[in-house]
Amino acid sequence: MGTALLIRGGRVIDPQAGRDETADVLVDAGRVVAVGPDLEAFDSNVDVIDARGLVVTPGLIDLHVHVYPGLGDFCLEPDRVGVDSGVPTVIDAGTSGAATFGLARKWIDDPSVRTQVLALMDPCQIYFATKDFICHKLEIANDLRNLDIDLTAAVLEANDDVVVGMKVRACYVDDPNVSPFLEAAKKVAGDRPIMVHLGRFPFTPTIPTPELLRALRPGDVITHAFRGASGMLDRDGQATEDLRDAAERGVLLDVGHSGTDFRFATARTLFEQGYLPTTISTDLNVFNVDHPVVSLAQTMTKMWALGVSLPDVVAMTTCNPARVIHREAELGTLEPGRSANVSVLRIDEGEFELSDGYETISVTQRLAPVGCVRAGSWIAAA
Ligand SMILES: [Zn+2]
Repeated sequence: MGTALLIRGGRVIDPQAGRDETADVLVDAGRVVAVGPDLEAFDSNVDVIDARGLVVTPGLIDLHVHVYPGLGDFCLEPDRVGVDSGVPTVIDAGTSGAATFGLARKWIDDPSVRTQVLALMDPCQIYFATKDFICHKLEIANDLRNLDIDLTAAVLEANDDVVVGMKVRACYVDDPNVSPFLEAAKKVAGDRPIMVHLGRFPFTPTIPTPELLRALRPGDVITHAFRGASGMLDRDGQATEDLRDAAERGVLLDVGHSGTDFRFATARTLFEQGYLPTTISTDLNVFNVDHPVVSLAQTMTKMWALGVSLPDVVAMTTCNPARVIHREAELGTLEPGRSANVSVLRIDEGEFELSDGYETISVTQRLAPVGCVRAGSWIAAA
């Protein structure tokens, strides 16, 4: 599980532990051994990562990516969005339904994949994401024959070690205000979170945003929460009553940047009114990795540029997503004894342009991945 490793002299930001200070992080045999100032390496075989001037965080978690290549033509290789980008843990958000989950699982279990991949599963038997939205074009994303609740429950149970929740496209069949797909997910999810896609799809209509917000449970997650024209704001740019009620009830907002699903303008308006994301995620897939999303670090930079403090940005990519998926006992903080997942980031100073796909802003500081420790081993960012 890797040799002993000392990450020396970085700014360690661990919001769950209340830590933001210059410190060393010592890991050995795949576990965090100690965090604190001036740790002495306990023997001469310790590898040292010089993190002076760098930011050291618990292993970053990207709550929304697509990483089962071959299951459709939409996915990226897990390590490209994961460890090669400084992110030890990623959650595939509904690339697979129940009937194809065995193929998804091959990517999750592949020993050549160094990134920890967890899954939100679509409740349909057949769902996969393609460039042409084939499951919507053929209207199987809104066909009740595509739902088999017993099968979905059985697949969830059999893959309980890696499926941390459900991902639902809230399409409807007869009643335009009720999504049987969302209702099915609620029947089988138990206390696992359900992530819903906010916004429309081509070919298959979805229930209106007020009905969607009302249907969600505490702990459920709205991804693409900061997109334009979503129905979360009224004509005067104020949060709707349904959004206020949902947020008070504990429904959570996730960034899910993607190509057209995040707008600085919407984020500014919602942030001003106190609607901050619980989690920052990318929705990385073939459509948006080159532009405008690029990486989790770049998406974090955008939130930082919008006025979220750096420790809060780190919380939104470490302890918060860990809590959302009920993995806070193992992920999201750097306590001794925990699995050694650590991310190291650089703050570049200069003039940088960032695009949300619509608007370009200029920033003077940018986060960039240097590398990460995953299960005790150091992996430099590619
Ligand atoms: Zn997605």
